[in-house]
Amino acid sequence: MPELPEVETMVRGIRPLVEGRQLLSFRRCPCSCRPLTVSPSLRTISSRLRGQTVAAVRRRGKRIVMEFDSGLILAIEPRMTGLMLAADPPDTAHLRLEWTFSEPVDTSPRQPGDDDPRKTSTIWFWDRRGLGTVALYTREEYEAVVESGRLGPDALELTAAAWATRLNRTSRSVKVALLDQKLVAGIGNLYASEILHLAAIAPSRPASSLTKQETARLARSVRRVLEQAIRDEGSTLSDATYRTVLSEPGRYQNRHRVYARAGEPCPRCGPGSEVQRIVQQQRSTFYCPDCQRPPR
Ligand SMILES: [Zn+2]
Repeated sequence: MPELPEVETMVRGIRPLVEGRQLLSFRRCPCSCRPLTVSPSLRTISSRLRGQTVAAVRRRGKRIVMEFDSGLILAIEPRMTGLMLAADPPDTAHLRLEWTFSEPVDTSPRQPGDDDPRKTSTIWFWDRRGLGTVALYTREEYEAVVESGRLGPDALELTAAAWATRLNRTSRSVKVALLDQKLVAGIGNLYASEILHLAAIAPSRPASSLTKQETARLARSVRRVLEQAIRDEGSTLSDATYRTVLSEPGRYQNRHRVYARAGEPCPRCGPGSEVQRIVQQQRSTFYCPDCQRPPR
């Protein structure tokens, strides 16, 4: 957490507040926690970016990528508990960073008497555990450090054929393979369980053992789960950490089929089939042993 749907929601939330605006200031909030990993130093980033305009903000896997008109790229990785916020942080003790942007750089002439909707905007990075990272790259550095080989294609961009090729290469279990950001970027522990349940595939199956039909079902399930979760603005779990940019809870937790539902009836099989929790590579996996049964 946060995974692809939550990070996509953050990007969509901050986009109108940052795109086409000039960065006026970027500073650390008064926070007594251990500082975040920021590279190079915040002072250096701030002096290199101040006055520049954000050309675009987009998501890459589980990162927020802010591209400035000079070509510099600020990559923000929320990791465990990081949030982008424009309102009401859960607390002020864990507010870490603050960006202030100018009013939108607008070239169209204003008519006399128009209301002026343009004003500055402020966004924050909030992080309870402080494992999030912020890094500034030139375009070449970004390609070399973030892209080349380290991040697979985005989970929403993979075709069924591409899924087959990538899963075929690994004998790890399909659940573990889904979490490998080199294989596919954006899926984490929560959505991996949800996707495999919807696809009716046992999480322990070796990825390379999936049939063509199963791979096609997996590809469809990835898209269905992630797109619905984006429409629902992500999942806010019982710890209530994840919030949207406007500090509201997500809604996809209401649709969770198996995640954190051990002992409850399977939504597909009904009473008599209980969701079970197992541990794969130190991470919880939730599944139904009846409709996600490995083939004999
Ligand atoms: Zn079931």
